[in-house]
Amino acid sequence: MKKISLVLSLALLMNIAHAESHGKSKGAHVHGTIKIEMAVEGKSLDLSIDGPAESFVGFEYTPKTANEKKAWSDAESTWNKQLLSKLFILDKSLGCKIVSASFKQEVEEADSINSREAKKEAGVHSDINAEAKVTCSKDLAGQNLVVALKKNFPKIKKLAVELLGTETKTIDINSDEQTIKL
Ligand SMILES: [Zn+2]
Repeated sequence: MKKISLVLSLALLMNIAHAESHGKSKGAHVHGTIKIEMAVEGKSLDLSIDGPAESFVGFEYTPKTANEKKAWSDAESTWNKQLLSKLFILDKSLGCKIVSASFKQEVEEADSINSREAKKEAGVHSDINAEAKVTCSKDLAGQNLVVALKKNFPKIKKLAVELLGTETKTIDINSDEQTIKL
């Protein structure tokens, strides 16, 4: 009897831990905090962002109403089409263009969660995973990049930018836009 209850307690503890991290296996889900990874190689720039959907559209469930669907498609098209004019701005003389871009919502699969509380939680929280590949006509190393995500998505409170390369550095950004040297 004691053995059974120990197993049950462990299962319960694991479910609680699962629910607190909103069932996310990678990275913490903190509203307002967005992680950006950038990698520069020659004339190309790879970008990826990961953060709570709330910071981009104001909610985290799958969009249902017309207003929610519009908020979603506005955010998506800003990323996919206006990335270089609104969010990550590079000097015009560099001749940069978007090669590919994607903006996705990751909702935790409710079926994989056992407890009822965790299920409830899973439906409420989701992350945005967006990626883009940019190519330019000149080398990007040493160029200035203006990061203006916060300006376009005011619910964002903090950006942690990881610039991958010879020297990986993490930059915390708290202002609406900030210039980063690539
Ligand atoms: Zn959330």
